[in-house]
Amino acid sequence: MSDDSSNPPYGILKGMKDVLPKDEKYWRTMYEKAQELADAYHYGRIETPVLERKELFTSSVGEDTDIVNKEMYEFEDNGGNEVVLKPENTASVARSFVSHGMRVDSKPKKMWYWDQFYRYEQPQSGRFRRFHQFGCESFGVKEPVVEAELINMMYTFFSELGLETKIHINNIGSPEDRENYIVELEGYLKSKKSYLSEHSKEKLESNPLRILDSKQEEDQPIIEEAPQIIDWIEEESKQYMMDVVEYLDKLEIPYTLDSTLVRGLDYYNDTVFEFFEPGREDKAQSALGGGGRYDSLTKQLGDKEEMPAAGFSIGLERVLKALRRKEQEEDFELEEVNQNNVFFAQLGEDSRKQALNLIDKLRQEGLFVDHNLGKKSLRDQLELADEQGAEYSLILGQKETKNGEVIIRDMDSGDQRTVAQKNVVEEVRELVD
Ligand code: AMP
Repeated sequence: MSDDSSNPPYGILKGMKDVLPKDEKYWRTMYEKAQELADAYHYGRIETPVLERKELFTSSVGEDTDIVNKEMYEFEDNGGNEVVLKPENTASVARSFVSHGMRVDSKPKKMWYWDQFYRYEQPQSGRFRRFHQFGCESFGVKEPVVEAELINMMYTFFSELGLETKIHINNIGSPEDRENYIVELEGYLKSKKSYLSEHSKEKLESNPLRILDSKQEEDQPIIEEAPQIIDWIEEESKQYMMDVVEYLDKLEIPYTLDSTLVRGLDYYNDTVFEFFEPGREDKAQSALGGGGRYDSLTKQLGDKEEMPAAGFSIGLERVLKALRRKEQEEDFELEEVNQNNVFFAQLGEDSRKQALNLIDKLRQEGLFVDHNLGKKSLRDQLELADEQGAEYSLILGQKETKNGEVIIRDMDSGDQRTVAQKNVVEEVRELVD
């Protein structure tokens, strides 16, 4: 039986959401900000297919992660390939980097994406089965300035949207450091097993690192006393972290060094970071975004040698929610985008026939024009104009049609004047500018 039987037969699947016109101002504002930043930092856009081979994620994100072993939408395609709906993009972008031989391109090779992802999770607040991310990946350079710049980009994205954020940062060392640390951590956690939450007990065998991310109350004292990765990483990694945060200090970006932050995916090494809303740092499923360094990923995916790389991704549904919360709690309102500032109303058969030509001319000039040529009464049409927040209505009656004129009505004051149709584009342009 389906786990979704409470939904009507043609209803949307559990945990999935449509993106609706009513939320356009949020989506458009976030997209424009992302694009603006990507351009300013000289990132090129990449789009990878929504379907990828399952193997891509099992061998990079890791078999023992929730994302891979519990949450992938997987099936066999018509050709017998085991495929999955992308649960994340770093592995796909790295796959594309390798398959297009981008290692010979000039470095850093910087790419950004805006995409949708699928994870078969237990849906809850801020956690869906389909969600969107804006992300950036930078290949080719291992220097602290790369992470500093990625963090700066994220920080700017949020602050320019009006959102305050708290940054947590850590260094998890090399894969070998991590392996040694995990052995120590596992030993420690096993000695405390009977005090751990049920969820963490399950993780003990498969991915003990993830226990450090647990938000269960009973796990907290155990996590506090746990061995810390900082004691297991090489001097070089410690210095690397200090160099990253020195840049952040210079950029006046506040951060917290968080030794429990591990971002349990297998491909990370050294720097990892996450962004939270202030006051929501301890809430499960509340990170707005995160990222880190992944120097071995392209090699794991078949490239000849290692290629240093780092990147981030931002969860857009969570950003949207944060923007909405800010609108509710503060004196803040995100501006509507591209509201139609002109409504075109007509009266009579001849006018209606002439209307589309005029509307077309106005639109070609970049004006946002709406109409409802199906309505006959002027009153109904003006009511609609009002509802849509139009600044001006253009009215084409029988007399105006005959005389080659059109009426411009200021919707706020109700003032009207008649202008020649041949001048209407310039007249309206002047008004709305
Ligand atoms: P991750 O790389 O898994 O940490 O994901 C990066 C960001 O994507 C997170 O910080 C969230 O903001 C967002 N995200 C991850 N999974 C989901 C989900 N199931 N639903 C909504 N947003 C998500």
